[in-house]
Amino acid sequence: MQKKYLIIGAGFSGAVLAHQLVRGLNCQVDIWEERDHIGGNCHTERDAETGIMVHRYGPHIFNTDKKEIWDFVNSIETLRPYVHRVKAMSNGKVYSLPVNLHTINQLFQQTFTPETARQFLSTLADQSITDPQNFEEQALHFIGRELYEAFFYGYTKKQWGCEPTELPASILKRIPVRFNYDDNYHNNSYTGIPENGYSSLIQKLMDHPDIQISLNKKFKSGQDIAGYDHVFYTGPIDAWFDHVYGRLGYRTVSFETHYAEGDFQGLTQMNYCDESVPYTRITEHKHFTYWEQHDKTIYFKEFSKETGPADIPYYPKRLQADKTLLMQYRVAAEKLEQVSFLGRLATYRYMDMHHVIGEALDYATTFISAIQNQQKPPVFPNAEQ
Ligand SMILES: Cc1cc2nc3c(=O)[nH]c(=O)nc-3n(C[C@H](O)[C@H](O)[C@H](O)COP(=O)(O)OP(=O)(O)OC[C@H]3O[C@@H](n4cnc5c(N)ncnc54)[C@H](O)[C@@H]3O)c2cc1C
Repeated sequence: MQKKYLIIGAGFSGAVLAHQLVRGLNCQVDIWEERDHIGGNCHTERDAETGIMVHRYGPHIFNTDKKEIWDFVNSIETLRPYVHRVKAMSNGKVYSLPVNLHTINQLFQQTFTPETARQFLSTLADQSITDPQNFEEQALHFIGRELYEAFFYGYTKKQWGCEPTELPASILKRIPVRFNYDDNYHNNSYTGIPENGYSSLIQKLMDHPDIQISLNKKFKSGQDIAGYDHVFYTGPIDAWFDHVYGRLGYRTVSFETHYAEGDFQGLTQMNYCDESVPYTRITEHKHFTYWEQHDKTIYFKEFSKETGPADIPYYPKRLQADKTLLMQYRVAAEKLEQVSFLGRLATYRYMDMHHVIGEALDYATTFISAIQNQQKPPVFPNAEQ
């Protein structure tokens, strides 16, 4: 008999899962999406005034080291090669990012080679910090005060809304410096932008006679979903339980839209590192689709803030209190029957698109096999660390 499944959320997680389920099992899939469009935070649409493809919820660059994920996505929609180059505005000057040999030579007005830059930086690194206890100490330990204050202090404070001394050292895992002139923001083997935008790609994933999408349809905690053989939830895990134990912490972002003639800043992304500038970065969308021609331009100023109940949650904060809360929700979720939690919100992790896609593909395989072998599928795709 044909199974009936419900997927809540039409982002990448929901779309990839639906794509795999209808191909792996005899089933019909309903997708409920609370917004008036598919794609979740990866949603792209053409701006009515300029015709430019806009990343409505912030700049999204597809990057992965996994050929199988790249091939899977390209089998649905062509990804055009794209190199993400970012500049930083600090104290009224423009610098190369991520911090590399050019940035060091610009900031210190030097002509260092890789080796002399390395030696110079070792004289700046704060040797007195042997066991960094927070983000600031970690940065000072790696790169010293000058680079930290120019590129990390103000930006981090704006992004997280607190002093970097209040953030865990683990945020800055490696030395964020390159001792060469490589300014490609992503170090991955494959980087691209979908030719017709992310929403087109995500729509194609869900184009199937056994998949029905309902927009403007919000699942509410406790709602009757008894007619389904299994429910896959990709919304915030605390919302499923009506925040009974409290709200998980997120940062959110808001965008201020601006228009101009021609080219506003000459590249996709400019970061604003100074605390005195209220926004964190400006994204100019026409540079994503460098193969298109547009006379006008549209750009977003991006502001970071704490997430209120009406805001879209963006970046999970994952402070210790959040992790404790998350475990309470996961324990409650494990007790549910025929419900799975998938994606960045339901597992409360920051995940890039390739993570989300890879995990949805793997989870679909696990789920299909469990159903075929009449076993209980796992509630989560991941173990919480
Ligand atoms: C500013 C920003 C920039 C990013 N840039 C990149 C990048 O450059 N490269 C990269 O790889 N990744 C990037 N990401 C990450 C990327 O956005 C995520 O990996 C991806 O969106 C996760 O997909 P998802 O389906 O798990 O979640 P989402 O995209 O959030 O989809 C979840 C969907 O569920 C819906 N939903 C939630 N609750 C309900 C409910 N109760 N009822 C009905 N529908 C519901 C939501 O409306 C949403 O559409 C970025 C993220 C942000 C925040």
